[in-house]
Amino acid sequence: MLNVVFLFLLFIAVLGVMGKLRLIKPGGRTKLPRPRKCRACGRFILGSRGCDCDRKR
Ligand SMILES: [Zn+2]
Repeated sequence: MLNVVFLFLLFIAVLGVMGKLRLIKPGGRTKLPRPRKCRACGRFILGSRGCDCDRKR
């Protein structure tokens, strides 16, 4: 019986590790910069400088 319990706990541990790995992968994807939109004009902001309409002000 102890063997069965041990195997069950091991199975849960493996599932937990796999779940963590699955959570880490999409987390890495979210680190990529999302396409942001300008609040003023609604165009996509390319790079980190900001939108063109911001510079004109
Ligand atoms: Zn803009």
